Amino acid sequence: MINNKYKQLVTQRMKVSFDEWTNKAYVEEREIYRFLHNLKGTAGTIGLIEIEQEAEHKLHLFSDVSTRPFTFPDWYELLKSLFVYISDQEAVNVSARSSEVSAESIGSSDPFGKRILIIDDDVDLAAYLKGILEERGYPVHIALTAERGLKLFYDWKPDMILLDILLPDKNGLVVLKQIVEKSHQEHSPIIVMSTKDTIEQRIHVYRTGAMDFFPKPINQELFLALIENRFQTKQQWERSIIIDELTGAYNRKHFNRMMKELIASYQRTGQRFTIILMDLDHFKGVNDAYGHVMGDEVLRVFAKTVMETKREGDILCRYGGEEFALLLPNTGKEQITDFVQRIRARFSSHVFVSGDTTFNVTFTAGVTDIDNKNAHPEQLVEEADQALYWGKESGRNMTVLYTPNMNSEGKAQILNIIIVDDDPLIRELVVSQLQQWMPNRNLLVSVKSYEDGVQFLESDWYLEQHKYMILLDGAMPTMDGVEVLTKLRNDYPERNIVVAMLTARTNQTDIIYALQHGADDYIIKPFQIPELLSRVERLVQKLYK
Ligand code: GH3
Ligand code: MG
Ligand code: MG
Repeated sequence: MINNKYKQLVTQRMKVSFDEWTNKAYVEEREIYRFLHNLKGTAGTIGLIEIEQEAEHKLHLFSDVSTRPFTFPDWYELLKSLFVYISDQEAVNVSARSSEVSAESIGSSDPFGKRILIIDDDVDLAAYLKGILEERGYPVHIALTAERGLKLFYDWKPDMILLDILLPDKNGLVVLKQIVEKSHQEHSPIIVMSTKDTIEQRIHVYRTGAMDFFPKPINQELFLALIENRFQTKQQWERSIIIDELTGAYNRKHFNRMMKELIASYQRTGQRFTIILMDLDHFKGVNDAYGHVMGDEVLRVFAKTVMETKREGDILCRYGGEEFALLLPNTGKEQITDFVQRIRARFSSHVFVSGDTTFNVTFTAGVTDIDNKNAHPEQLVEEADQALYWGKESGRNMTVLYTPNMNSEGKAQILNIIIVDDDPLIRELVVSQLQQWMPNRNLLVSVKSYEDGVQFLESDWYLEQHKYMILLDGAMPTMDGVEVLTKLRNDYPERNIVVAMLTARTNQTDIIYALQHGADDYIIKPFQIPELLSRVERLVQKLYK
């Protein structure tokens, strides 16, 4: 049970912050972030699940580093739901009769799933129940007539309804019939209370769709236990309908909701966000080879890997079977390549064990971010999906950023850049630099890396209709760069592939040797990024001449 003292303390703290902010010209964004972050922590610790969830939910809308100023109307609009909570708390000591406020004056946006509506004409009983419920932190409103009760039901949207049968203007069972369907939709239980406790009455009440029947006079302890139990069930249920059971990621329902919120927030404040669609590669093959139980395990490991890598405010959702969507608030797509690379490195190096065999799984990612031309959920998903599709077409295990070229499908050409080097730093540097590179033509760039020549040649890298630029380390342990080059020139058509050797050797004979074996160019290590880019640009011209 929530300790009321702590609850009041938290409310008090919220109020102090809000008052302080109201007296300032503006509040810095990171200050709001810190406030929500702390609130989430404290509320979670003392069991205020609804505030915790609401704070976490709001956290997604703010950046922890931005100093952007928020004036009163801006932050008030975004944090309104938390205000409602404070005012509900302040109303605790108001007497039963005066709390029968007009429905118009009540905010209907209170998000905290524990508001109770009592519809009962017995003022003393209603006031008594309101007292003991509010002591335990439940916001309560009383309606003394059926008409008032119905109005509050529709306007205040309570999370639980306590309904008396004998009302002055209407039979409670008629009210029950009227609200039962909507209350089911909202997952708000109805508890009928009556002094007329007969088997027939109970059967009728249950058949009509009430969750419980509670006899009067009311036993306080039993009553409170029931209320608590029903709210717990409701909460678990509500959580379960936005969480994907298998992976623990959010489900598509929540994805849709967050998409809408992030788009609205962008339209209000210009706050950007990025969406990454990730689809496991050849997952059907995993199921076929190792069984569905193993397939499920792969999905779980994937979700876990992303959740351990992502920032607190990023939202991972299971979008479909083996497809996941990650929403990154306050992020533009140009900032995410390193991040996806980290997920890729962790996940693809995870060794799955099935009987005597082991295997790895990779994924392909499509990325887009919001701007003023695509601010619709379908459009954004469509763009990320197109990028993902290109990634699959280009050989999988890569991240593709959406570009408008992708709309003219078939016209755009794919340039695959492949770096084969045993030095992980060089690989990462080249991948992160070139992944963001957008040559000034109808070209889609996809970048992949391999740590040795054997791994590269044995992978399923080549597609006839694509063009390739391969950056090849001269000296590698298992297979020398020139050996790889020789195989490339012997086994694949030269017009589709340009090769540059990366060499630390300034020895002229090595360079001549590479050129003799079919290298188009060489880059001497260590190299500077601008030099790399200009070399790459020149080589591309050779491919498309
Ligand atoms: P690609 O690289 O092109 O994405 O190929 P793929 O095999 O991954 O894609 P495809 O869409 O052909 O197959 C997806 C498979 O994922 C088919 C489906 O049976 C499987 N799948 C979907 N949901 C689940 C799940 O919850 N558990 C398991 N084990 N398999 C699932
Ligand atoms: Mg797949
Ligand atoms: Mg798929």
